[in-house]
Amino acid sequence: MKALVYNGPGSPSWETIPDPTIEDPTDVIVRVDTTTICGTDLHILKGDVPSVKPGTVLGHEAVGTVAEVGSGVTSLVPGDRVIVSCITSCGSCQYCRRPMPSHCQAFGSTGWVLGNSINGTQAEYVRLPYGQNSTYKLPEGMTDSQALFLSDIFPTGFEMGVRYGRVTPGDIVAVVGVGPVGLAAVATAGLYGASKVIAVGRTRPRIDKALEMGASHGVSTKDPDWFETVMNLTDGLGVDVVIEAVGVPETLEQAFRLVRPGGHVANAGVHGTSFSLPIHDLWIQNITFTTGLVDTVTIPILIDLIKAGRIHPEVMGTHEFSMEDMMGAYDVFSNASKHNCLKTVITNS
Ligand SMILES: [Zn+2]
Ligand SMILES: [Zn+2]
Repeated sequence: MKALVYNGPGSPSWETIPDPTIEDPTDVIVRVDTTTICGTDLHILKGDVPSVKPGTVLGHEAVGTVAEVGSGVTSLVPGDRVIVSCITSCGSCQYCRRPMPSHCQAFGSTGWVLGNSINGTQAEYVRLPYGQNSTYKLPEGMTDSQALFLSDIFPTGFEMGVRYGRVTPGDIVAVVGVGPVGLAAVATAGLYGASKVIAVGRTRPRIDKALEMGASHGVSTKDPDWFETVMNLTDGLGVDVVIEAVGVPETLEQAFRLVRPGGHVANAGVHGTSFSLPIHDLWIQNITFTTGLVDTVTIPILIDLIKAGRIHPEVMGTHEFSMEDMMGAYDVFSNASKHNCLKTVITNS
């Protein structure tokens, strides 16, 4: 089969490798019908994620069709269409039972193993360990592009941003960073009754996308008065819940500036460098701060919300490719702002 292989820091390659086979009774082999590229894949290509060894197939997001199941799989049969979770869950360890499968103990690290410590989804086929616990059946009538971003991006924005941020009715929510994860937080903050959802971004097309996806206000940090603009929207009090969705020190610092005393800062960004927490200013403000790796346990909720027409994840799929043009997809996604790209939709036709 063809697959996108990480060969060490630098360029990946689209090459032929052996098809995956059932190795354990709980394995499921899925034909990847639709996949996408995550910002995390770009971090891997820079060499920022040492757990990814050369020779690994990248990718942790997909919608596909079950091709083969191991002898221990009881709830999936070949032909079933599934959403692949970016988190692999054994279903029986202490973390999976909490349920907090982000820290599934089956692999000795976290539950994020696909396209990390084992081969991932940017390929024609993928082997999913504990396949029946790590996939969700695609409902009848739901398209691949509606469901694709439930593998990772939508649950990340919803769980790490909105749920960890403990948004409650009437809250003013600011989402700092309106890339895919930030937009998912924007699209789901209203579900818990936020009175205002302020999208804080840099470039206009993405801020406009946030307004399309549910933000009540859009503010660009290129505007020298951006901070005062946000404060004025809170009557000068500060923001109840600030969701950081970029993953760099500058935006985390902005989040701590915006939050009001007693408010929450929920970090949903993937950080690669350390950040000096200004604890001498923060302790007296009764602020709570959360971080985390997504569990994807809200995928069933998000499926229901798509079916009810309450969320529309597919609007994030700005660029379509066939799988043979995987390198073209990487080229566009690596230069996302130049191409005004949010997420790629890569189809195995
Ligand atoms: Zn991801
Ligand atoms: Zn587990």
